Amino acid sequence: MSGYELRARQRPADPAGPEAVSWHVVRQGSASALCGRVFPLTTVTRPITDAHAITPPRRCGECWTHMEALEQVWAEGSPREPDP
Ligand SMILES: [Zn+2]
Repeated sequence: MSGYELRARQRPADPAGPEAVSWHVVRQGSASALCGRVFPLTTVTRPITDAHAITPPRRCGECWTHMEALEQVWAEGSPREPDP
C-alpha cells in the first residue's frame, strides 16, 4: 500500500476528546479519502503500515473496503508489471 496514508477525522464536538477520531485512507498528500470524503490537510496522518493497528470501531468502513480491494488487485499482480 505505498502511496497512501491514514488521515484522522477528528470530532472536536465529541466530549470524549482527542481519542474520538476515525481513520480514513487517502493518497499521500491528498485531502480526498477513498470513501469520497475530503479532509483538511492539517488533520493528523499516520503511515499506511499502521492500518492494521487501527481498531475496527475507529476505521472508516468504506475506506478499508476500498483498500482491501486494492490490496487484492496488487496481490494478484499489477497490469503494469510483466508476468513472471
Ligand atoms: Zn473513509
